[in-house]
Amino acid sequence: METDCLFCRIVAGEIPATIVRETDRTLAFRDIGPKAPVHVLVIPKEHYADVTALAGADPGLAGEVLATAAVVAEAEGLGADGFRMIFNTGRYAGQEVFHAHVHLLGGAPLGPMLAT
Ligand code: 5GP
Ligand code: ZN
Repeated sequence: METDCLFCRIVAGEIPATIVRETDRTLAFRDIGPKAPVHVLVIPKEHYADVTALAGADPGLAGEVLATAAVVAEAEGLGADGFRMIFNTGRYAGQEVFHAHVHLLGGAPLGPMLAT
């Protein structure tokens, strides 16, 4: 655990979050500033700064993060109409929290893939 990492502190239970699913190695919780009716973050419990570090060090765990996100998508009723998963990575993507996470967004039309 990185003591100054927000998401590590959520994993440790030091910061509250609305958890929607937990597996041995992953955690899914609602984004504090939802950008869509359903906005869930799925993370590996282990700290990696971004998806590149995660996939490079432990591709199996990266797969578990995606599998958890897929289960949450179904559980949240997003299967029929679809959803989006986003890994913001680095400065150009506006990554704010440097603990790898995938955004699961859905529940309404999401608009164009990128703001133009
Ligand atoms: P990023 O820009 O790094 O891809 O996304 C970070 C996300 O974390 C943002 O969507 C932001 O709303 C969310 N976030 C920031 N602080 C907290 C928090 O304390 N709790 C929760 N649940 N989400 C947070
Ligand atoms: Zn962390």
